[in-house]
Amino acid sequence: MKNPYLSPVLLIIMQKIILLTLSLVFGMVAAQQNAYYQQYAQYKMDIDVDANNFTYAGKQTITYSNNSPDELKVIYFHLYWNAFKPNSMMDQRVQSQGKSGDSRLQVNGISRLASIPKDQEGAQNIHWIKQNGKNIKFDIQETIMKVYLDKPVKANSTTTLTMEWDAVIPQQIRRAGRNNSEGIDLTMTQWYPKIAEYDYDGWATFDYVGREFHSPFADFEVNIKIDKDYVIGAGGTLENPSEVKGYQSNASVKTDSKNKATWKWTAKNILDFAFAADRDYTVENFTILDGPKIYYVYQKSDKTIFWETSKPYITKFFQIMNATFGRYVYPSYAFIQGGDGGMEYGMCTMILGEATSLDGLVGLMVHEAGHSWNQQMMAYNESVRPWMDEGFTSYYEDLVMYQLFPPQSPVANPFVSAINSYINFTKTGKEEPAVWLADHHDDGRAYSFASYVKGELFLVQLGYIVGEQNLSLIMRDFYEQWHLKHPTERDFMHIAQKISGMDLKWFLHYWINTTKTIDYSVKAVKYDTDSTTITLENKGQVPMPIDFSILKKDGSVVNYQIPLNMTHTWKTKDIYGDFQTLGYWPWTQKEYTFTIPYSKSQISALGIDFSQRLADVNPTDNFVEVK
Ligand SMILES: [Zn+2]
Repeated sequence: MKNPYLSPVLLIIMQKIILLTLSLVFGMVAAQQNAYYQQYAQYKMDIDVDANNFTYAGKQTITYSNNSPDELKVIYFHLYWNAFKPNSMMDQRVQSQGKSGDSRLQVNGISRLASIPKDQEGAQNIHWIKQNGKNIKFDIQETIMKVYLDKPVKANSTTTLTMEWDAVIPQQIRRAGRNNSEGIDLTMTQWYPKIAEYDYDGWATFDYVGREFHSPFADFEVNIKIDKDYVIGAGGTLENPSEVKGYQSNASVKTDSKNKATWKWTAKNILDFAFAADRDYTVENFTILDGPKIYYVYQKSDKTIFWETSKPYITKFFQIMNATFGRYVYPSYAFIQGGDGGMEYGMCTMILGEATSLDGLVGLMVHEAGHSWNQQMMAYNESVRPWMDEGFTSYYEDLVMYQLFPPQSPVANPFVSAINSYINFTKTGKEEPAVWLADHHDDGRAYSFASYVKGELFLVQLGYIVGEQNLSLIMRDFYEQWHLKHPTERDFMHIAQKISGMDLKWFLHYWINTTKTIDYSVKAVKYDTDSTTITLENKGQVPMPIDFSILKKDGSVVNYQIPLNMTHTWKTKDIYGDFQTLGYWPWTQKEYTFTIPYSKSQISALGIDFSQRLADVNPTDNFVEVK
């Protein structure tokens, strides 16, 4: 629309100014835009553990590579264990969430952190920090430490930080700590001053109040001195197995004057280094053909009998994952008994080990090791997009477990129970959008559904929209382009759209940013002499393409696809059978009517999505049995 108050001459001058300004602005933006980069750190640590008193002393040298185009004047660190004390932010968060918070952190709504005895409070006490040998200043806000650099780290350069600290290993409240419920002495996770991630979004400085982690990839050389009777399990390579207990039958344990042995661990290009230590650990290993060497580090007893029988399943798991989703890149992976459930770390997991069934133990192992293809190799910022990490991992878990332990009675696909639990949860009215920050969900269950279930069903719905063959290609390409990097949902969607040729942005938006639901129905069926006319209705808020099928009396199935206009390109194949493509359904249109050349006498049933992948919250009106 033209502005009537402007004269034509003035208008032309103004247009020129606008054009000039626009080209200047865009020119500057283009000059500032940079290709993808990621920061890198190399840690060298010497750790002296006092296992009797649950403390350790640490020294580390970090070589930090600033690969960003920005000059950094400060560097942030995480001091996670400072959370484990009464009245910490984690304690406040647990108290305010009450019974709707994480069940491991509270009993009947009372925070377990509030009653940690003084001598079991977690702590990471920093003595000093130096940059290139010079003492520098730092501030600590509980679990976040800001370090003021003496000399800023310029773009594409490195700096060296050294620091000394001591730590108190906390009472086991969440993930890390002393004396876990199965009697593992030391679960050492997120246990050292850890450099925070810096990227295009700035520093990732989330306070530790419960949810997960983010950090740059790093190399580790960690020397751990501990009483010689301890055995250590860790995510990494043990460089001196002949000098410590547990790994070699002919080892001669090398001790110092205080009867301590030094364990030398290395790891390359992982996000964090985790270990656990116990006097009663047994170490077993087996090698997967064309895969990593697997370590089991656990207390072997009649409570852990399923560890032995799980080995062939774990072998299959790595083989399936390597073949389907891209290769596991590290030389080894360790399943370590420890922690408070199951938690993933670089090249290892800490799990509770006293499972009461084989499929229970394997399911836990498969989930945690499956995180290697998400949290570890595709190192998402888990505080910002937990649905990618937990959701995609849950997808792998269900897909692989369906193959390892086929269901007793047949189900339409591996995700049926996830879909059913999602449908039930939507009925509680407590659902919260998956796009919310992990730590900022109001309700613990809402977080779980948003991240684990909604994230898993994101891939299931995507497979339904683009076809399973395309989904496989998307997952492979995503791995090829982004493993050992820090992808976002935008990077994933870029590939999904490129491979499918479809516009899928609407789907990401509906599924992740809102709690709107899918609800289609078969509204009317009209039978004629040699044809049948069907009217479908979109009763929900999320538009989707529709797969429609008829089961004929002769037992054969005829499939149709009704594309959604918004994808602009239609699905061409799917593993659930050949189909015929009908005219598209505009998303604005509530009903859709079509006629098929089959009479009532030929049809025994008809309906929406025989594959049962569509997460329709009211599936009962999707099918009609013809009588
Ligand atoms: Zn998980």
